[in-house]
Amino acid sequence: MKSFELYEPTTIEEAVGILTKLGPKAKVLAGGSDLVTGIMKDWVQGTGMPLPDALVDLGTIPALRGIKVDQNGATIGAFATLTEIVESEDLKRSFSLLTQAAHSVASTLIRNYGTLGGNINQRPRCWFFRGKDFDCLKKGGDTCFSVTGDNRYHAIIGGEGCYIVHPSDTATSLLALNAQAKIAGPDGERMIPFDDYFIGPGEDILRENVLQPDELLVEVFIPTPAAGTRQAWTKLKNRQVYDFAVVSVAAAFTAKDDVWEDGRIVLGGVAPVPYRAAVIENRLKGKNIRDRVRQAAAGIRTVVRPMSMNAYKVDVTQKLLERTILEALG
Ligand SMILES: Cc1cc2nc3c(=O)[nH]c(=O)nc-3n(C[C@H](O)[C@H](O)[C@H](O)COP(=O)(O)OP(=O)(O)OC[C@H]3O[C@@H](n4cnc5c(N)ncnc54)[C@H](O)[C@@H]3O)c2cc1C
Ligand code: SF4
Repeated sequence: MKSFELYEPTTIEEAVGILTKLGPKAKVLAGGSDLVTGIMKDWVQGTGMPLPDALVDLGTIPALRGIKVDQNGATIGAFATLTEIVESEDLKRSFSLLTQAAHSVASTLIRNYGTLGGNINQRPRCWFFRGKDFDCLKKGGDTCFSVTGDNRYHAIIGGEGCYIVHPSDTATSLLALNAQAKIAGPDGERMIPFDDYFIGPGEDILRENVLQPDELLVEVFIPTPAAGTRQAWTKLKNRQVYDFAVVSVAAAFTAKDDVWEDGRIVLGGVAPVPYRAAVIENRLKGKNIRDRVRQAAAGIRTVVRPMSMNAYKVDVTQKLLERTILEALG
């Protein structure tokens, strides 16, 4: 492993100051399960993705910890661990979708030290991106190896030159819960909805979200769902012990007498960003869900564009959509 300087700020302002001074070669470090073991260990780098010279440890900043729930919603510090999220009784009561998604991440050991901020901001799992011998487009090179290579786990929606799927389970659930991100940078703090947090390769192939090198995610806010909101999470994975999603579905919606009122359906594992399946929501609006769910789920076929080896994901997505929506309905 390449050596690096380690900074241990105790406030958010101090962390931002270090990031601003050091520039893009400094990276923030949370639990390290992705950054240290996943990328730096394997020397994964490219012309547009240099290995960091400095890591800014967020574990020494008390303000990034904690979970608070009140009548307005839940506020979760970026350094809250996934285990803390899974075990929070307050979150289980009103935000069970996040609890389930967090519980489906990796193994108990990784959830014990992996954080929410790290999970949301983790880098993609594309095996060419993770392989040190492939200087692909996302690392600043000139080829996407998935186009002619093994693309069985790649995107079926919205590739635009790079066909990663966003790997974060919590991000998929947060989008369905209409959550917001608080970001800190040199100009202070700002809130943005997760709807606008993730960016696809068409916008910037080197990044997966709006964060600039001198910014960090401080906390997540989830508004209290409307009374009676139904929530469900389904994740299909290859290895049952633990694995990333082949496809996941997060559903959060209100319904009266089985008729869809309002809500969100979000897919993981299918696109470079957590994908809001508006096509499904629109087909259910004002309709009896039990009568329409099969036809609504088939709507996913109108937006997909599978690659040479992953057409199976279309069938899987359609079925999981149907199953998750019915499970949420009860
Ligand atoms: C074997 C294995 C299995 C896994 N399975 C799954 C899975 O099933 N589902 C899933 O979703 N994930 C999975 N992961 C990924 C894992 O969940 C995440 O790696 C973990 O949650 C990341 O948290 P961390 O605190 O360790 O992040 P780190 O490794 O410390 O950071 C990850 C990235 O996020 C950035 N970052 C961290 N915190 C912030 C912040 N506050 N603001 C801005 N940037 C930040 C870092 O710079 C880095 O680029 C798996 C990982 C492993 C190693
Ligand atoms: S899908 Fe993206 S990350 Fe994977 S090889 Fe292509 S450009 Fe690289």
